[in-house]
Amino acid sequence: MNVDYDGQRHWGPATQLVRGATERSQFCETSEAIFMNSGYVYATAEEAENSFNGNLERFVYSRFRNPTVAMFEKRLALIEGAEECRAMASGMAAVFAALACQLSTGDRLVASRALFGSCHYICAELLPRFGIKTELVDGRDLNAWKKALSTKANAVFVESPSNPGLEVIDLPEVCKLAHAAGAVVVVDNVFATPLLQKPLAMGADVVVYSATKHIDGQGRCLGGAVLGTKQFITDKITPFMRHTGPSLSPFNAWVLLKGLETLELRMQRHCDNAGKVAAFLETQNTLSRLLYPGLKSHPQHALAMKQMSAAGNVIAFEVAGSKTAAFRFLNALKTIDISNNLGDSKSLICHPATTTHQRLKPEERAEVGITDGFIRLSVGLEDAKDLIADLQQALRA
Ligand SMILES: *Cc1c(COP(=O)(O)O)cnc(C)c1O
Repeated sequence: MNVDYDGQRHWGPATQLVRGATERSQFCETSEAIFMNSGYVYATAEEAENSFNGNLERFVYSRFRNPTVAMFEKRLALIEGAEECRAMASGMAAVFAALACQLSTGDRLVASRALFGSCHYICAELLPRFGIKTELVDGRDLNAWKKALSTKANAVFVESPSNPGLEVIDLPEVCKLAHAAGAVVVVDNVFATPLLQKPLAMGADVVVYSATKHIDGQGRCLGGAVLGTKQFITDKITPFMRHTGPSLSPFNAWVLLKGLETLELRMQRHCDNAGKVAAFLETQNTLSRLLYPGLKSHPQHALAMKQMSAAGNVIAFEVAGSKTAAFRFLNALKTIDISNNLGDSKSLICHPATTTHQRLKPEERAEVGITDGFIRLSVGLEDAKDLIADLQQALRA
């Protein structure tokens, strides 16, 4: 069956999420099928030869491509508005592939300093081991970007909003500066999801996701994706992944396809709940800091709301009195779970300084605002009143 992808590009997001790229087998199944196979057979030796020399386009090995994984890739590309997508085994596989596929010894990478712990490791430790020069800048400061990008650069990497400090990058401005310096811009769009923010439309070249987060959103499996132009995916990502193998399992691709079906509904509830919880936290004087892009008090509220259609589901705050007070508060929660994951239907909370960002030096944590009292809350899909009641009783403790 031939799928009319160009026609599907005109569908609304909900239709794309439910039906986009669905391809049925000869059994006419309703839901997407799981093609849980590693290899494929050829009718003749000539067919195998033609499949490898590029004369015939078909599936040859699931490290390269697989029908279930391809449906996930095409559906995500539709909703992102990207020409092409390659799925990866995890968000970190996607971040690493998006950078390693295009950088060589002697190249220069400029990244915002406020990054997820493992993204920071790739930029600040792993890539420099291969002779790639990394410069980390304060991503909120356009003058810092101007200075860093006044010399030639090969790639720029940013998270916006950042994990966990919710720093916002001025994407159109940074993309302009990056392109003038000759750099390819890679945006980690995990916190915004493909629904709330469209980095490609703001000038970015490549978007990466941890599909583990909101795209699955139900705590079931790992996954990741890299999206960009047909040229970037064909020339850079495809050979990198074919030969290094960070491939997504077909089973996980199927779980993620089912996740996409409900993503729009879930994001509406996530954002709605987070807005209510943030409004409650704003009334609590035991907090020494509160960050949510949807609150007017967020230092980059106006920029966040210009770039995003809603503020997302992650809230960060600081309980006065450092680590002891933070731990006492976390341990007093009864409904909200302590977990380093996010974007889940269950509300999850963590203490970044001792978990996701424990590897950073104390001064590096300080630079991105991760103090000992700092807490990250991923607001789930429960009734907001129950979450607020839980937070209220734990803040009293
Ligand atoms: C979780 C996360 C990742 C890594 O994704 P995994 O699927 O856990 O490998 C990358 N970037 C950000 C912003 C994240 O929150």
